Amino acid sequence: MALAGQEKTTAVRSLINLLPDIERSTCFYGCLPEDVEVGGIDAICPDCAKKYAEGQPLTKTEKARIVELPLNARLEDVVGGLDDRAVAHERYRLKRGILSLADQNILYIDEVNLLTDEIVDAILDAAAQGTYTIRRGQISATYKANFTLIGSMNPEEGNLRPQILDRFGLRVVVRGLTSTQERLDAYRRVAAYRSSPRRVVAQFYQETEQARAELQEARNLLSKVILPDRVAQLGIQMIRELQIDSLRAEITMFEAARAYAAADSRVEVTQEDIRIVAPMALRLRRSSFMTKYFAERAQEEEELLATINRMLPQSPT
Ligand SMILES: [Zn+2]
Repeated sequence: MALAGQEKTTAVRSLINLLPDIERSTCFYGCLPEDVEVGGIDAICPDCAKKYAEGQPLTKTEKARIVELPLNARLEDVVGGLDDRAVAHERYRLKRGILSLADQNILYIDEVNLLTDEIVDAILDAAAQGTYTIRRGQISATYKANFTLIGSMNPEEGNLRPQILDRFGLRVVVRGLTSTQERLDAYRRVAAYRSSPRRVVAQFYQETEQARAELQEARNLLSKVILPDRVAQLGIQMIRELQIDSLRAEITMFEAARAYAAADSRVEVTQEDIRIVAPMALRLRRSSFMTKYFAERAQEEEELLATINRMLPQSPT
């Protein structure tokens, strides 16, 4: 997800209270009971295999976190690398990177447009696959990196390259509040929080907990939500009408529509769900460069075939 505008960091950080708890592995290698279900007992480390055999839990319940990627992070910090302290003792061990720490959490990158392409690529690859592998000499490790990626940027400070922009799912434009009443409400809440933070938290506790529970229910329901062909075909027609070439447009739009239906406790996506999520999924995806590129290629293809047909006429059959 990409955000633009002011007060974006506050908006992202405020998500933390809404996130459902997560089950996290207690082991350095991130072993999980599901690894055993999939790959047998050899799929987890010896320590965990022992625990598993004794019926001890491999995970503990934790609060979800927002892991922030600092702007000055190096590739080593992001994906992980050799542990310098271990190397000093002539032991070679990998140190986990920010991506693996973000597993099951939110990974937040402020000023995503100011990161180097190398780092953005590593993050987007991991986000797309849910795991990533690093190799340093003889040793390698594969880490789970199943996170929700939120990037924010101030468009005044330069844009993302179109290829990178396309790999972000939903785009939200954040603007300052425009209604006088909303601005006044915001001021009153800030003032109340400053004089008594605890009272404000208590006042919104019920609402926050309810939203959190609803989010958890929606997550549980998501795998059951279906997208009827009729609705899907309409969505694809609309994307073609907009001359958006990237397949990511409909992937994102349909998945967002399924999530939206789940959040509304429904198991079937409607046209209305698509209508609501479409702007987030489709804005900034139209590329005048690609439209022009395809028009030029079509022209070239036509000339190419004409010349081939003239020079090498089809032999009569
Ligand atoms: Zn383990």
